[in-house]
Amino acid sequence: MSYLRTVVPILMYHKVGAPVHAREDTFLNVSTESFERQMRALDRLGYRAVTFAQAVSILRSGQPIPRRTFAITFDDGYSCVGDSAAPILARFSFAATVFVVSGAAGGENSWDAASGRPVLPLMGWDRLRDLAAHGWEMAGHTSTHPHLNELEDAEALREIREGKAVTEARLEMTLATFCYPYGNFNARTPKLVAEAGFTGACTTRSGLAKQETDPYLLPRVKVAYRDGVAGMLYRLIIRPLLPNLRRNRTPRSTA
Ligand SMILES: [Zn+2]
Repeated sequence: MSYLRTVVPILMYHKVGAPVHAREDTFLNVSTESFERQMRALDRLGYRAVTFAQAVSILRSGQPIPRRTFAITFDDGYSCVGDSAAPILARFSFAATVFVVSGAAGGENSWDAASGRPVLPLMGWDRLRDLAAHGWEMAGHTSTHPHLNELEDAEALREIREGKAVTEARLEMTLATFCYPYGNFNARTPKLVAEAGFTGACTTRSGLAKQETDPYLLPRVKVAYRDGVAGMLYRLIIRPLLPNLRRNRTPRSTA
């Protein structure tokens, strides 16, 4: 089987079209114009977007993956995603996934305040319900966006479960997948995510999700503010092939 039939690129976005006044504002943000150009380029190249849950299910099946399948994910559920990204995705009939922080829906990403990063409005339940009705996947991202790796297991499990239960109750649907806040987890966290009833989870590690990858540790392709179309395509198509070359070049570490 061709290598490309065994991998799914999962794009990682957070904010689209959030205002930029200072350098910090570009953190995990992509302009509406860039996002539109990136989606148009993928559409023209024949890429078809599936939800992250569908990507997990395709990967877990072990069956050849339809060519040019990819997934689009948005962490935290910023209002700007509903305002700026959703109309663009609708135009290309691209599905997407939002990782919802159940205790912050309709509020703000207050967890970023201490680090001086922009604090912005998050979508409320009505908007999330509306997107779900248009084919978006709603997925888990805990109740309060904690560093799960630093919590006792019982507390981490409570965060993961509560985020799932509250979002399911508010949106009247079942959540299938999860994303680790800050990309942080320890050796036990993936098991807790499985115990909470999720079928897969993604990290902030970079790379393409492969059939042989642990479905609870799927890497993503991060799209940065300055990427534009060329940078996004480089990260999607070229860069994933490079680690093998690098590994061959780099002397074996002592670890
Ligand atoms: Zn997050």
